[in-house]
Amino acid sequence: MSKNFQAIVIGAGPAGSSAALTMARAGLDVALVERGSFPGEKNMFGGVLHRMPSLEKIFPDFWERAPLERHIIKKGVTFMTGDSSFSTTIEAGNFDQPPYNGYTIFRPSFDRWLAEEAVAAGATLITRATVEDLIRKDGKIAGVTIQGRSGQLNAPVVVAADGVLSFTAQKAGLRRPVFDPAQMAVGVKALIDMPREMIDERFGLVRDQGFANEFVGCTEGVRGGGFLYTNYDSLSLGLVFHLASLRTSGKSPCDLLNAFAEQPQVAKMIRGGVFREYSAHLIPEGGYDMIPELVGDGIIVAGDAAALCNATGMNLEGINLASHSGVIAGEAVIAAHQSADFSRSGLVAYKKLLEESYVIKDLKQFRKAPHMLHNNRIYQEYPELMCSFMENIYKIDGAPKGNVTRQFLKAAKEKVGLGNLVADGFSAWRSL
Ligand SMILES: Cc1cc2nc3c(=O)[nH]c(=O)nc-3n(C[C@H](O)[C@H](O)[C@H](O)COP(=O)(O)OP(=O)(O)OC[C@H]3O[C@@H](n4cnc5c(N)ncnc54)[C@H](O)[C@@H]3O)c2cc1C
Repeated sequence: MSKNFQAIVIGAGPAGSSAALTMARAGLDVALVERGSFPGEKNMFGGVLHRMPSLEKIFPDFWERAPLERHIIKKGVTFMTGDSSFSTTIEAGNFDQPPYNGYTIFRPSFDRWLAEEAVAAGATLITRATVEDLIRKDGKIAGVTIQGRSGQLNAPVVVAADGVLSFTAQKAGLRRPVFDPAQMAVGVKALIDMPREMIDERFGLVRDQGFANEFVGCTEGVRGGGFLYTNYDSLSLGLVFHLASLRTSGKSPCDLLNAFAEQPQVAKMIRGGVFREYSAHLIPEGGYDMIPELVGDGIIVAGDAAALCNATGMNLEGINLASHSGVIAGEAVIAAHQSADFSRSGLVAYKKLLEESYVIKDLKQFRKAPHMLHNNRIYQEYPELMCSFMENIYKIDGAPKGNVTRQFLKAAKEKVGLGNLVADGFSAWRSL
């Protein structure tokens, strides 16, 4: 059986549900098509939801309504070698008052909630429905077919929000058929149950406060890093690797995650916890240079499907960018309905609004960061340099203390080489 809608959104992740919500609130008849048995069922991520200006505009009480875990008041980074580590932590008073700077969340509950908000606004959610193909009419995308179901869903415009591998964007000819492994990362995560009081005590937290820590030097030389985030009564512990580097190493993500969990500094943090589940997912980390064509005739691409993910090495922003692009996609479809023009030029408002938003501005600002992060020294030699330099600073053994700058340069010469230090410093300065 065929059904007609005014718009179809493929994928009920943060990008898709934000698009459907925006269109449904404007009175459009929208189908939100999701392959999972409920939105979020198949979705995972590291764990920190950053500020969401677009959704905060739609729901001024967003932070009270959304299913959230702890708000992040402490952010840290730990440089590790086999037996030493050096950490820096920022605990900001400003992060401990609303509007909070970020929350830990679980995707199954968050994505489900956001999709339900779209349904409450009037969208039709169709679950257990994997979009198989795009329908074309007069050279324009005009609907979709669903795997294993007869008939089709028709609409003058489709929003492809089907995530990083977006077969829809590929089928529409908007992205290259083959991904460059140098632009992709893979993340693995273990969820570790731990009593709430133990988490509070161990990480120095009270009330609903949370801690987010990143790790460098914990991936056995594979380009990547680790994370540990506190939920109410569990920890999210994981690693993210550049796909090309992981492939060359021949190592398995699972073995690397187990080794990470056994490193003394990490083992202390998770002691007493019970491993509950593992998950893994790809991340589009190529930044601005990875963005495909954003609009075609009858189609808009949003979220990870459009590679709108900002991995700068300091933060990983994905959900906020996905949601913002979804809202803008929704606004562009509303405008296209007003002018009854669903061609590429009728939908171009999406591209323009996105370019004016922080999404593209930030991706442009950090355009060189993905290249800078391909420097292998960041993942082994620099953590060694940080740890050995700090160890020397704090070592008091009766020997005369040398000049600190000279000590640093001596350690830098040994660990990375002075030429590399200058070149890497310049590259970091240009990228960040
Ligand atoms: C390990 C890891 C850690 C991360 N950490 C963070 C973090 O801390 N903070 C942050 O902001 N971001 C983080 N991200 C990135 C973030 O998860 C993504 O950027 C974000 O989920 C993108 O949202 P989206 O809606 O575009 O895509 P997705 O969340 O991937 O949603 C796509 C949806 O489409 C559905 N779908 C796919 N194909 C079809 C089809 N053919 N038919 C129907 N439905 C389909 C899927 O089931 C899914 O529901 C992380 C990612 C990973 C993997």
